[in-house]
Amino acid sequence: SELYGVEKWANEFFSISDEGDMQVHLQDGDSEQAVSLPEIVQGARDRGLEMPLLLRFPDLLTARIKKINEAFHEAIHDCDYRGHYRGVYPIKVNQQQQVIEEVTEFGRHYHYGLEAGSKPELLTALAYMHDPKAYIICNGYKDKEFIDLALRGQMLGLQIVLVIEMPGELDLILQRAALMNLRPLLGVRVKLCTCNDSHWSHSSGENSVFGLTPNQVLDVVDKLRSSEMLDCLQLMHYHQGSQVPDIRAIREAAVEATRIYCELSKEGAAMGLLDIGGGLGIDYDGTRSKSSSSRNYGIREYAADIVDVIKTVCDEANEPHPNIISESGRAIAAYYSVLIFNILDINQSNSHLREIETIEPNSHNYLSKLESVIHDLNDDNAQECYNDAVYYRSELLSLFHHGNVSLRERAQSDRLFHRILAQLREKIDQLDDLPDDLIELTQKKRDVYYGNFSLFQSLPDTWAIDQLFPVMPIHRLDEQPTNEAIIADITCDCDGRIDKFLINGEQQNALPVHYPKDGQDYMLGVFLVGAYQETLGDLHNLMGDTNVVSIGSQNGRIKYQRELSGDSVADVLSYVEYDPKHVFERFLRLAERSVEDGKISAQERKKIIDEYRESIAGYTYFES
Ligand code: PLP
Repeated sequence: SELYGVEKWANEFFSISDEGDMQVHLQDGDSEQAVSLPEIVQGARDRGLEMPLLLRFPDLLTARIKKINEAFHEAIHDCDYRGHYRGVYPIKVNQQQQVIEEVTEFGRHYHYGLEAGSKPELLTALAYMHDPKAYIICNGYKDKEFIDLALRGQMLGLQIVLVIEMPGELDLILQRAALMNLRPLLGVRVKLCTCNDSHWSHSSGENSVFGLTPNQVLDVVDKLRSSEMLDCLQLMHYHQGSQVPDIRAIREAAVEATRIYCELSKEGAAMGLLDIGGGLGIDYDGTRSKSSSSRNYGIREYAADIVDVIKTVCDEANEPHPNIISESGRAIAAYYSVLIFNILDINQSNSHLREIETIEPNSHNYLSKLESVIHDLNDDNAQECYNDAVYYRSELLSLFHHGNVSLRERAQSDRLFHRILAQLREKIDQLDDLPDDLIELTQKKRDVYYGNFSLFQSLPDTWAIDQLFPVMPIHRLDEQPTNEAIIADITCDCDGRIDKFLINGEQQNALPVHYPKDGQDYMLGVFLVGAYQETLGDLHNLMGDTNVVSIGSQNGRIKYQRELSGDSVADVLSYVEYDPKHVFERFLRLAERSVEDGKISAQERKKIIDEYRESIAGYTYFES
């Protein structure tokens, strides 16, 4: 477990069993049950759900909602804070119906609300969030329809806050509210000066595209005052960006924000709500550091620091403590899903090193010279042998370009060269003073394991922002891995690969893996993919959504719920504006012409057509 850092990133939700299986810890009645992931996968396959498979664990989602609420309640209690905590879940982080249903049902106990950043999200929030004590926070660009929907929700008894993100929004909101004879619940999103080092730091700071400058905030205040509507302004919001790695930046932003909040209150705005946005980070790499895949604080420290800062600044300004709203999404949803895929094939970089080479008598004599380097290599001539190998190989390559060396000879020169490198690697491991040219050789050659998944569909942040997710085998963890590999997906795009892993607490460019056993699938899991990955994924190479199943535990047995079959080829084709029926008919025409031309028989046509029909109705990934 230390190799893959499970104890560091798993947050006690995952562990390795004595049998070497990865297991997830679920709630079973009043007790906790460890459930083997390979067993879950086998049960899903028995039910017809093949890999790649996305496993969802609602228990982990609810555990995180509980955790953040309890962390804030504890902090509020510990420092005698006189406001409440009312979190909201940002729908965009994982919009799946099941997530919103779980969040609103389980969250009701804490009056946990929703954040909506668009019209479709607000429509969803109105359908699912019926707790009059929870908030629905409306961020994002708002048109007339968006504003009307929010105001209608307010008429129905919900606490919906329209957060002004752009100066022009206020007039429209006041106009629509006047037509409905309503006093709207208003917030302002402010731009803070405080910046941070996260991937998403551009969503904060003076140059962010969202939010109002202090000048613009004062314009809003003045306009509301002159319209006798200043009592409508109750909330101040800021968002520092997602995955903020450093608690200091969080504290600094909270100080600046609370100062502005107090000033708004002094200006005569009703206030009462301070919305600190998202940003609460997840420890993807288990380092608990300021690295971009981690953070140097935990959820309790986060809550304690926020509450402490707001209390201190408000007390100094003699202002009442506001109710605190946070919009944490990643920290709530990340643990919820795990992607499981099987390895389809391996490109073994070192396989040829084991074979004995015979140099054909009429081969180019540089091949024999390369081979003799292998025999000459000793402890004292590593650099010299390396130089010779590079020279002969590049000469052979240039001879190939001029037509003086065959493709077979060129291939043999590659094999000999890599064999020399492998021997050099073994030698230089024992050298103290390594020549610069040879340092690169200390990096082992890695195999390529081809995984049955699409990075662009299932792990888009790996590609888009170099995000590091925990990746590891989900079985055979009681066996020492004997191989090292990078993971390539099946999109045939050179970017479709994972080549950054956290191994033994350090970032490495290869994953320790086992050689697959005959007749047994070798399965890898990518963990902590519940936030942002599902809906940011795209249809690169027309690979669609994976199969999905939600897992619980009941009376010691695995409970499979909400099975969702992944996209079929026909589904994916229709997303890119093909009519699958039309596609089929076009292929039919080709097959019929081939019968007419005598290329195939009518019976062969039937077989080919049946196979095509079956493929178009089937899964976009490899099926075993
Ligand atoms: N609130 C707003 C306004 C956001 O833009 C985001 C996403 O970046 C969030 C909340 C959620 O942030 P996080 O997932 O870091 O908690």
